[in-house]
Amino acid sequence: MNTFCALIRDMWTSSDETERVLTTAPLKSMIQRLAPRFMGSQQQDAQEFLRYLLEGLHEDVNRVTSRPKPITTDIDDSMSASQKSMEAWKRFLRLENSKFVDLFVGQLKATLRCTVCGHESVTFDPFWDLSLPIPSRSGQVRLQACFDLFTKEEVLDGDEKPTCSKCQKRQKCTRSFSIQKFPRILVVHLKRFSTQERFVGKLNTTVDFSMNGLDLSPYSAGQTPCRYSLYGVANHSGTLLSGHYTAYCRHPYTAEWYEYNDSRVHVMDQRNVNSGKAYVLFFELAGSKHRSGSTHV
Ligand SMILES: [Zn+2]
Repeated sequence: MNTFCALIRDMWTSSDETERVLTTAPLKSMIQRLAPRFMGSQQQDAQEFLRYLLEGLHEDVNRVTSRPKPITTDIDDSMSASQKSMEAWKRFLRLENSKFVDLFVGQLKATLRCTVCGHESVTFDPFWDLSLPIPSRSGQVRLQACFDLFTKEEVLDGDEKPTCSKCQKRQKCTRSFSIQKFPRILVVHLKRFSTQERFVGKLNTTVDFSMNGLDLSPYSAGQTPCRYSLYGVANHSGTLLSGHYTAYCRHPYTAEWYEYNDSRVHVMDQRNVNSGKAYVLFFELAGSKHRSGSTHV
């Protein structure tokens, strides 16, 4: 956390110099000391790295300093969905509670419906990011099509049959996801590195994410505001085995977009932000205030 803070502080310290050089090397060496799997310059997965970084920073500043006894009882099934959601969130915060949770963690609702008796059961799980499938191997799709596929009802049958609590036995069920709680910062991971349906490789499909705001209300389980604006993109070019990462980031004050490519940083045309290289997308809930530059991790 201290190493990370030093970098963020450096980034946001105003300076008269027009060309200032910052290095992320101390952060990288700290991370590879803690997680040797990130050593060297082999290709790593940006989403996996981000998850490691965020969860690691979160642990360092977790407001829960001594772990309370785990609650082993199930959430009362007779509660309403919103009560269940609040109870699940309370149980999560009991163990994981930090500035990082405040910013990044949302809650996903899973609805399981028995096709035999019609019984519906809902469960709520926290998420740090959403991994969205891409519905096409080539060409262009809208980001909404990825959300459609992610939230689409699926049938669980055969070996996947869950146990229906009403029938008291394994039954064919349907399952669907919706978003119960929207995080202030929404991280969307596009599943480009696919191993699904006999296809192993990278999808170079262009996923069209609107630069004018993303309305996620069709995927909302509740009433919370859910309009987002994009402020960062982690891009991957290359293949499953080797490639190159760059980043596009919107300056929070000037709203200009910058391209970060190894040692080079320059202003870029906003129209080029959307490309087939986009891999991890960073959205900010519209209307949320910039309390500090550290929001922009
Ligand atoms: Zn049933």
